[in-house]
Amino acid sequence: MARPRLAVFKFASCDGCQLSLLDCEDELLAVVGEVEIANFLEASREVQKGPYDLSLVEGSITTSHDAERIQQVRKQSRFLVTIGACATAGGIQALRNFKDVREFTAAVYATPEYVSTLEASTPISQHVRVDFELRGCPISKLQLLEVLGAFLRQRRPNIPSYPVCLECKRTGTVCVMAAHGTPCLGPVTQAGCGALCPSYHRGCFGCFGPAEAPNTASLGSWWETRLGATRPELVRAFRSFNAYAAPFRTASDAYEHDRP
Ligand code: SF4
Ligand code: SF4
Repeated sequence: MARPRLAVFKFASCDGCQLSLLDCEDELLAVVGEVEIANFLEASREVQKGPYDLSLVEGSITTSHDAERIQQVRKQSRFLVTIGACATAGGIQALRNFKDVREFTAAVYATPEYVSTLEASTPISQHVRVDFELRGCPISKLQLLEVLGAFLRQRRPNIPSYPVCLECKRTGTVCVMAAHGTPCLGPVTQAGCGALCPSYHRGCFGCFGPAEAPNTASLGSWWETRLGATRPELVRAFRSFNAYAAPFRTASDAYEHDRP
C-alpha cells in the first residue's frame, strides 16, 4: 500500500519548528518508514508535486504573496496542521500588529520603500481551514511525533490543553512564583514542555501559548498585588511569541489601556 505523502511548508518564521522534525533523529527513521516525504525543502531539494495527504505548515502570513500561496497549499492538502507560535498565533513578528509596521521597517532598513509587507502578521487559521494546531516556540518533537502517529492511526492527537502548572506538580518542581516570588506565566500557558523553565528556577514566559480558558485577569492581579509588577511589565509579559493569540492579546490590550 502506498505510504501517505507528507509535505512541509514554510512561511514567515525562523525554521526552528521544521528543525524539530529533523531533530527526531532515531524516530525520524520510523517516520520515514511510514510516510513518503514528498516536499520538505529543509531536508531535501527533491520536491514532488501535490496533492499531499498531510501538510505541516510553519510560519505566519506577512505578505500578500504568502496570503495567496497558503490558499494553494490548502488546496493541495488533505490534512493541514500548523506548527509553532508563528503559524498558530502570528509569532513574535505579530508585535507589528500593535504598532505601525512602517515605523519598524524605517528603523531597520536603509531603504524601507523596497519592503513590501502586510500591516499585520496573522496565523494560518485566519486565512484557510486548519485541521489541527500544534503550539510551541519551538514545538516539542514528542508532541510532533504524537500528531504524526495520530494522523497515521486516524485518531485525534492527544495534546494537553491544561497549563504548565500541572507539569510542575507532576514532575515535583517547586513553584518559582509561590516559593521565590518569580513572575511566571505557567498558570495561563499550555503544557507540553515538561515545565522546563521552572525546573531551572525560572518563570515561564509563555512560549507554548495560552492554555484552555486561561484566567489572565487573575494572574495579572496576582502579579500586581503580590509581586509588585507594573502595568507596562504586564503588557510586555503577554506580548512575546504568542502576543496575537486572542487571550494574551486581550490581556495585553487591557493592561496597556489601564483597564482592570
Ligand atoms: S512555577 Fe509557574 S508553572 Fe510551575 S506551578 Fe508555579 S506558577 Fe505554575
Ligand atoms: S516553561 Fe514556559 S517558557 Fe519555558 S519552555 Fe515551557 S512553555 Fe516555554
